[in-house]
Amino acid sequence: MGLVLYVSPVENIGVDSFKRDVAIMDTTWTVIKLTLWNDFVHVLDENLNHVDVAPIIVACGLHVKSFYGTYLSTGYHTRVYVNPVNEKTTSLSTWYEIGKLAKIRRDWFRSPTFSLKSSIDISNTPRIRLSQFPSVRKVQYCRVVAYACRVDSVDNIIYEACNRCLKKVVIFQGLQKCQSCNLTNTVTIPRLLLRLTIFDKSGNLKVTILHDLAQHLLGCLATEIKSVLQQPNGRNRVMEKVFACFGNRAFSWVLHPPIGDFNPEHSYTVGYVLHVDWAEECMWLNKYIASKKRK
Ligand SMILES: [Zn+2]
Repeated sequence: MGLVLYVSPVENIGVDSFKRDVAIMDTTWTVIKLTLWNDFVHVLDENLNHVDVAPIIVACGLHVKSFYGTYLSTGYHTRVYVNPVNEKTTSLSTWYEIGKLAKIRRDWFRSPTFSLKSSIDISNTPRIRLSQFPSVRKVQYCRVVAYACRVDSVDNIIYEACNRCLKKVVIFQGLQKCQSCNLTNTVTIPRLLLRLTIFDKSGNLKVTILHDLAQHLLGCLATEIKSVLQQPNGRNRVMEKVFACFGNRAFSWVLHPPIGDFNPEHSYTVGYVLHVDWAEECMWLNKYIASKKRK
């Protein structure tokens, strides 16, 4: 049983199969994908994404599947009900109507910023403090709210990559060589790599923002940064741009947790950077305080 946050359009799969994905959530705030196949695609439609309701779907006889994360799928024995009235669905819809947060979450799922999969991954990401980061295991991502306190020198913000495989090229006997493609005199394109240190009250962490995300956050292309760097005073101008983006502001950082032992000198890769949702932060803080009281 879950509140339907988002309904995807119908997709044709193969010759005569159709499917539709929906994101559902219950009072645990866990969001899961439910894939509706064939006849079941008609129980909901994507117009629901534009109205101020979140229907409740109740389904039984579902398959639990795994493909880059767990999801539910309809099958031969599945039964699906939309908005059935009983004690449990009434209590879920009351929970949804009273709290504003569930609606914020619903609207976030309906905004086209991320793919459905990314939205689910980010939404289910555990919120931690930086001091807990070294011991985080067995999750795809974790999330911290932190400020950027130091930007590494902008000298290495650009690297030259092979235009075939996008791997960094090395200089070999004065020529650019891609070790991955085993080509010398490789044609290269500039790529961005932004290294920062972030901090919260509990500690700090070195992080790396890779090319696509860095371009998105800085709002310009690697080629533009490269040409600015070649101009007089270019380094300062690039530094200013980075500070304008990250300086004096908290962000919600979605990070890949450490693989193996934590190394404070290692720079950990950032998956996504989001604006802080303060309503959600309050909810997390309440949970955090409640868990401290229990101990
Ligand atoms: Zn290559």
